[in-house]
Formats: sequence, C-alpha cells, structure tokens
Amino acid sequence: MQLSKSRIMSALQCRKRLYFEVHRPELQKISPATQAAFDTGNRVGDFAQQIYGQGQGILIEYGPGLSQALKDTERLMTAGVDEPIFEATFSHGGVLVRLDVLIPPGPHTQSPAWKIVEVKASTKLKDEHVADCAIQAWVFEGLGYALGGIALAHIDKAYAYPGGEDYHGLLVEEDLTAEVAELQDSVPAWVGMARESASGEMPDVQVGQHCTTPHLCPFFEQCWPTETKYPVQALRGSKEKLGQLVADGYLDIRDVPTTVLDGTETRSRIHRVTVAEEAELLEGASSFVQELAFPRYYLDFETIMPPVPIWSGTHPYETHAVQWSCHIEDSDGSLRHEEFLDLSGEPPMRPLAESLIGMLGHDGPILMYTNYEATVIRGLADRFPDLAPELEAILDRLVDLHPVVKENYYHPDMLGSWSLKAVLPTIAADIDYSALEEIQEGTAASKGYLEAIDSSTSPERREQLRTRLLEYCRLDTEAMVRLVRFLGARPSPTSGPALSR
Ligand code: SF4
Repeated sequence: MQLSKSRIMSALQCRKRLYFEVHRPELQKISPATQAAFDTGNRVGDFAQQIYGQGQGILIEYGPGLSQALKDTERLMTAGVDEPIFEATFSHGGVLVRLDVLIPPGPHTQSPAWKIVEVKASTKLKDEHVADCAIQAWVFEGLGYALGGIALAHIDKAYAYPGGEDYHGLLVEEDLTAEVAELQDSVPAWVGMARESASGEMPDVQVGQHCTTPHLCPFFEQCWPTETKYPVQALRGSKEKLGQLVADGYLDIRDVPTTVLDGTETRSRIHRVTVAEEAELLEGASSFVQELAFPRYYLDFETIMPPVPIWSGTHPYETHAVQWSCHIEDSDGSLRHEEFLDLSGEPPMRPLAESLIGMLGHDGPILMYTNYEATVIRGLADRFPDLAPELEAILDRLVDLHPVVKENYYHPDMLGSWSLKAVLPTIAADIDYSALEEIQEGTAASKGYLEAIDSSTSPERREQLRTRLLEYCRLDTEAMVRLVRFLGARPSPTSGPALSR
C-alpha cells in the first residue's frame, strides 16, 4: 500500500484516524476552522513559490497523475536544473511525498547537495513539523539523493508588507537538518505502524487529548458520544479526563455520578444543572441589567487576520476590524441600528474608526460579548494615535456581557459553552443563525469579506456578499439586545426558562 506523508502524520496523531481515512473517508467532517486552515496553507504555499522561484521555479503538476509527476521529477533531477522545483514528487519504501520547495545544488544552496524547504503557514516551529520533515528526508535519501539540508519556512510575524506585491521577508527559515537526522531511525517504525493501522482491523484507541491535538480530528463525532442529549464532553476540561469518562462507559452527563466528577466549580455546575434539566438564571443578572444606563449601545466587530498582508504597513496575522454593527436602545425600548462595511478594497480601518467614534457619541454603556471588541479598539488606537483619545474614551464605556452571563446563567442545551451562539437558542429560539445564507459564523464572514474585496469578484457577487455580511453582523448585535432583555427579566428564585423536552 502506498502511504502519503499526510497519512503517516495522521497515524502519528491517532492510528484509528488513519483507519477511518482509508476505510471510511465519507465519515470525516471538516470544520469551517479546519477548512480555513487548509485554505491558508494553500495560499501561503502559492506565495512561497513566488518568493523562492522569483519567476524561475518549475512546478511539478499533479493533474496528469502520480506516475507522470514521479517521472517529471526524476527527469528534472537527472537533467541538473538550476531552478527550484515545487511539488517535486518521490516514492520510496511505499511512501509518497511531495516537497514544497526543492532547491538544486549550486549557488542557491552553496552546497553540492539538494536542500528541501517545507512551507507552513504557522508563525513558529511546532513538534509535528520536525516529524513531517523527517519523513520527507527519509524518502529523499532513501532514493539515493544527497541531501545537504532541510528547513522549515514559516511566516515571520514581524514582517511588515512594504506594498507593491513585494513579499520577500514574509517567510523565515529554521534549519532542521540536525533534528531531522536524529529522527531518521524512527521513520521506518512510523511507516510500519501506519501501514498496520491502515490495513488491519480498526485499532482500538480510546478518545483523549490526541483527538484535538495537534489538530482537531475530522472523525471526532465517530468516537465521542453524539447520540445522547447531553454528551459528557460538554462537561469541559481536559480531553484526557473526559476521555476516561467515555472509556468508563459514561456517555451522557446525566449518567455521571457526582462521586466521579473530579473537577472545577464550572464542571460541577454544568453537571448539577444538566442533571436537574432545569436552566439556572440567578438574580445577579437582572440587578446587573437594571444598573445599565440608556442609551445602551450593543457593538460587534467582524475582523480579518490575513496570513499574507493585504495592505502596506501591515503584518501577517494582524487583526483588522473591517465591519461593525451597533444596535442602540433608548429608555423607552426603541431600537436603532447603525453599521459600517467598506468593500472598496482600500484599508477600511481608518474610516471604520472614524465612523465608530461618530456613531457612539459620548454617553451610554457600550455592550460587547467577550472583550474582543476592547482588543480591536486598542489596536485601532495604536494604529491611529490622533484618534487614540476618542477611542480610549470608548474603551472606558465598554461593558462585557460574557462574564455576567457565565456567572448567572446556564442552560443544559448550551453544552458547556457560554459563547453567544450557544446561549442564544436557549433564550431566543426565533433568532436562527442557520437561517442566514452562506455566512453563519465568523470564519465564513472573514472569508466572505476577503472574497468581496478581491478585484476578480464580480459586482453582483460583491453585492450579494455585502448583503450577507451585513445580515450576519446585524444578527450578532440583535442577539445581544435579546440577551440583555432576557437577563433583565427578574427570575423566579431558582430557575430560568423551562426546558423543551
Ligand atoms: S476522534 Fe480521537 S480516537 Fe477517534 S479517530 Fe479521531 S483522534 Fe482517534
């Protein structure tokens, strides 16, 4: 059986994961965040080809098939090319690898041997990168080629984009030659383990920390309980401990006896409320709301964090606010809505900050959910020192609803999460993110914005995205209004909303 490098990496995370990939690929579920990470990796890979190739590199196409890619690679290696080869393809010992960048001997490497560069979109070296490179080196050297060095090229967070499509400096290399050499003797064992996992019976692996580390396993739902109403993983805490509960046969929170519930106060509370099957709303919530003055501003930002900077003077993965929505509530209960979204493709941060300052006025609490909005506003103040006094005045008015909700409210259907999207269905079932078209969560919003400002996007599609982005962000602030109204309703002494069964 031919194993790709990525399959061996899957087996190193979990043998059962590889078994599923080979035998039941239709069961995998790719989360939006995982898909976004793939897309980011591909995008950074494309930039790496520009940076290393400088218009000269040779790409081994995969379209014509594996055997053609292997032949094309061998032909170039034998011919003694001077240019870097991208996606050079090799097979040895039943293991297939495609190398991001292969630099030929000569002036580029200052060595009589080849150099491999693995490209990653992360901002630092991680343990799994060394194993990844070790597999590549094992295949390459196993074919008899001389390897002069192997490096990981990752994003340099300190890089500032000068503009003009000049991305030199975006990637920084870390030499892994010595670390990879140390692992060479381990690779055959990895290959053997992966081959056995893929070809034998389904490995008996207990769930645990490895289900989310180093990556969220796409078969998570196959192994963790999902059929039950309140799966134990909603108890939160380390996946190791939760995995032990599953191994001990506890699938639903209601089955877990208090005696085995070793954990934090939060975990005990989730357990207590879930077992009671009755939501808990404490009086502190309504006291908090009654003290909020009017007008009340409900603010939410949408942001992007592009790995490859778009605007000059910006850095990789820098957070840029690109959109805001605000509902404004007066003491008579009336609501107004304001919003900002600029899809011109020009840097929107300055007009966004100015419009925000103008809209928020000088008085009234500004409600947010988690302190992300504060981080964004601080970032704007750093970027535009002339606006800093007004932005800092806004910071003084921010009120975070998240800790209030966490302290005073829990509903079993929240499944251990106090995110707005977990809380909302339990208090306002009529607000339904899944009814929104295309953009239903933050990752999709970020992707939608980037597509909308791309010059290749048609005007019709841009307008469609504008509508969807505005609807999504507006729903976030409308949700906060509903949340505060819910919290402000004075609760009965012990309980909140009745549960639907
Ligand atoms: S969910 Fe966990 S145990 Fe199941 S295949 Fe994935 S990593 Fe392995």
